[in-house]
Amino acid sequence: MATDTTALDHEVRELLARLGVHESRYTEGELVVRSPITGQVIAHVAKTTESAARESIAAARRAFLEWRSVPAPRRGELVRVLGEELRAEISTLGRLVTIETGKLLSEGFGEVQEMIDICVFAAGLSRQLAGLTIASERAHHRMMETWHPLGVVGVISAFNFPVAVWSWNAALALVCGNAVVWKPSEKTPLTALATQALFERAAVKVGNVPAGLSALLVGDVQLGEMLVDSAQVPLVSATGSTAMGRAVGPRLAKRFARSILELGGNNAAIVCPSADLDLALRGIAFSAMGTAGQRCTSLRRLIVHETIYDDLVARLKRVYLSVGVGDPRDSGTLVGPLIDARSFTGMQASLEEARGAGATVTGGERVVVEGAEDAFYVRPALVEIAEQVGVVKRETFAPILYVLKYRELEEAIGLQNDVPQGLSSSIFTLNVREAERFLSATGSDCGIANVNIGTSGAEIGGAFGGEKETGGGRESGSDAWKQYMRRATNTINYGTDLPLAQGVSFEIDQ
Ligand code: NAD
Repeated sequence: MATDTTALDHEVRELLARLGVHESRYTEGELVVRSPITGQVIAHVAKTTESAARESIAAARRAFLEWRSVPAPRRGELVRVLGEELRAEISTLGRLVTIETGKLLSEGFGEVQEMIDICVFAAGLSRQLAGLTIASERAHHRMMETWHPLGVVGVISAFNFPVAVWSWNAALALVCGNAVVWKPSEKTPLTALATQALFERAAVKVGNVPAGLSALLVGDVQLGEMLVDSAQVPLVSATGSTAMGRAVGPRLAKRFARSILELGGNNAAIVCPSADLDLALRGIAFSAMGTAGQRCTSLRRLIVHETIYDDLVARLKRVYLSVGVGDPRDSGTLVGPLIDARSFTGMQASLEEARGAGATVTGGERVVVEGAEDAFYVRPALVEIAEQVGVVKRETFAPILYVLKYRELEEAIGLQNDVPQGLSSSIFTLNVREAERFLSATGSDCGIANVNIGTSGAEIGGAFGGEKETGGGRESGSDAWKQYMRRATNTINYGTDLPLAQGVSFEIDQ
């Protein structure tokens, strides 16, 4: 179906107006925003100047000094209302996510649903920021942990989850009593402006929210660096490529700031002889081709037992050659566009390298969509390769699935772990021994290990993140909230003596 470019332009304006973003914010700036659906320019956004960014960080610090004394359940009320605002605008913001990132409409809506889910989670959590009570070795003493707000939390986010990543961090940071300053991807400022507008709407509804509690810095890497280097920001949560993490990590360490690093993945699935192949096929297809391979958890390597290899690969080839590639707003589409030309060039370079290593490539070519000649659509690539050579060990942020063969489970787990990244992994098997071995200490070395589902599509209730070059950070559910607070250990003496720990004696004359 042809894509109507004027209609897209018009729709963006309508969506932003409805979400409460003033026209001047997206018509009068030097940051050019393109939709990957057509490649056309859809907005010009004003960049935050360095001095305005500095003032935002200072204002956030002032807001924090007030906010930290607001009882946590009342802070939770702000996040609850933010969730309601998001719920009211799920189709508006979800559609804008689709237009700005090129993901399917159901994925755009799903991203906003994830924001709502974390708001619900965080609102409940605001009544459960609990510390331990610990047995003391001294008579008439009590030990406990208390958790206190940390300060201004910096959030740096990537283009592919332009708003959900902010919400994972912001919802927790806010209930924990912090202020938040956000530097979104320079490729996706529109959804960030809209999210900030919804936050401000929620703040007005709730009332008495300190000015500057949540701030947005729109612009390039330099603004991210300013957050990273600011002594007023004790924690930076940075999501993006491993290259970004390599730059950001040491800078934060240098000033002893905390970091949550959520970096690149190179996720694998093992398919065992007993696997339910119909189920596996669906799981593999969604993980590998969904979001056009542009999820950090996208499936990039498939490790298939030799006895089922020919059958599974033949079925996968049929899916790869027939899957609908096109405008992500069309109901027949399962694979939308790549984010930009650079992404396309990177994908082609990796496919060339794989061919050079003797691989057989199915798909991978550019698909021209009528009316969207400046956009970069591709048919997803299935790459059969004998060895896990260099290109397979790197993350190419595009829909390429390398397929490898194995004989023994030991070998498959070895291949799965033999990459620098450690984000997500899965095994398809009906054999309980294989499944449990994969989940054990000698199995997958990733932050996420699944059985009979693909590598992507996590829920917010669990801690999200990965090991090795993925950065080691954890966000979202479980006890990830603890990273947004500082812990104090308190010992209270309610007796009349002063016994010292470890039986130390220190008697003074008095
Ligand atoms: P990117 O690294 O190019 O940019 C991410 C963000 O970091 C942007 O906001 C960018 O401006 C900022 N940035 C880059 N260099 C910086 C620096 N030196 N100092 C401060 N800020 C800096 O990533 P991208 O292309 O937007 O996103 C794709 C990458 O993100 C992939 O590698 C993907 O796997 C990863 N990702 C990881 C997760 C996760 O949770 N592990 C989630 C989403 C995306």
